[in-house]
Amino acid sequence: MMNKSEQLFAQALKVLPGGVSRNTIFRKPHPFYAEQGEGCYVTDIEGVTRIDFANNMASLIHGHAYPAIVEAVSAQLHKGSCFTMATESEVQYAQLLCDRVPSFDKIRFVNSGTEAVMAMLKASRAYTGKAKIAKVEGAYHGAYDYAEVSQTANPSNWGDVDKPTSIPVAVGTPEKALEDVVVIPFNDTERAINILNQHKDDIACILVDLLPHRVGLIPASNDFLNALHQWTRDNQSLLVFDEVITFRTNYSGAQQNYDVEPDLTAMGKIIGGGFPAGALAGRDEVMKVLDPTEAKVLLPHSGTFSANPVTMTAGYTALKMFDQAAIEKLNSLADYAKEEITKAIADVGIGACVTGAGSMFRVHLKPEPPRNYREAYVDKKESALITKLLDHLFDNGIIMINTCSATLSTAMTTKEIDCLVAALKDGFEMLKP
Ligand code: PLP
Repeated sequence: MMNKSEQLFAQALKVLPGGVSRNTIFRKPHPFYAEQGEGCYVTDIEGVTRIDFANNMASLIHGHAYPAIVEAVSAQLHKGSCFTMATESEVQYAQLLCDRVPSFDKIRFVNSGTEAVMAMLKASRAYTGKAKIAKVEGAYHGAYDYAEVSQTANPSNWGDVDKPTSIPVAVGTPEKALEDVVVIPFNDTERAINILNQHKDDIACILVDLLPHRVGLIPASNDFLNALHQWTRDNQSLLVFDEVITFRTNYSGAQQNYDVEPDLTAMGKIIGGGFPAGALAGRDEVMKVLDPTEAKVLLPHSGTFSANPVTMTAGYTALKMFDQAAIEKLNSLADYAKEEITKAIADVGIGACVTGAGSMFRVHLKPEPPRNYREAYVDKKESALITKLLDHLFDNGIIMINTCSATLSTAMTTKEIDCLVAALKDGFEMLKP
């Protein structure tokens, strides 16, 4: 007799490609089907409750069904969910975000991180009149053709480290998109500048995630960032940050930890308070490319659901409650988790390590923390072990992101961290050769 999940998946296979709506949640023998979430716990349709360290891919900062958000959004739903009009909620939320981040003069809301990065790259092109963008090798920035270049499961396609290849992710990516993406190695200032210098007059912007997940979840170095910033000043280009994930790491996002200010920043995930959202924000002079009151609008830009009042209300409520005290508490909880996991690794004596910053961390089955995408690469053998570890965690009441990464929510305490560490320790024992 099939259980509910098996029945649902059999039906899903008939109407959804591969039975899923997003490939990242695909899992053998079937995806997990959520029934309900509350705080940091999720119950699946089989009635099993687990601690949620995935938080919908880092997008829930207060966990599930956070009472203040439920209340505020419910009130808005009774008034209507979207209009062909502006609402007070977007003005209020724009003010909160611009007050919060020194590099934000103006902000434009969109509906996802992908859309935010796409609009940011297009704004950079419109402002500079240049076509190329530079990005870090292996860094994930969503599903826009240009932003998704240079992530591959096959190291033989990487190319020379002095000139990483612009490899497409999707079959059919236009050649022009590949030609217009300049790939630079992470935290390798000399090589990165050499590569950029070969495209001196053509680069609209350098796109950087300050803590790129697929590059190993290690922070950008000050030296690297300062050099990129200077290069953009010297070459009439822009420095733009993807803070879709990292915005959760500090009051003003991860950029607060550095001396340089970006020209533009893309956001998503937590700024939606659990609803689909994104935004690009930055210097007034650059944001002007979107301004409909300008004589010539350089980047005409709209979105049917952009800044809808449900999302604006949810995001505003979520961020209001994510104040300095909440951030410090959450980040200390993550530090505690990293310390305890590091101790568990040493106790078991397995070649593993943990990286991360703010309220996110990633467990690698490698003895040393990776320093770039090539070192962070997970080969078939490691991938099989990680799947085994994730299955073990899941069977022991823990949901993680499929790279063996965790993101915390303010609903968590040391109790949930201790459960994670205990389950990981058992998992490491199980994997030990
Ligand atoms: N940029 C980064 C750094 C991300 O992690 C993601 C999503 O995981 C995106 C952009 C794309 O965001 P979305 O999935 O909301 O389109």
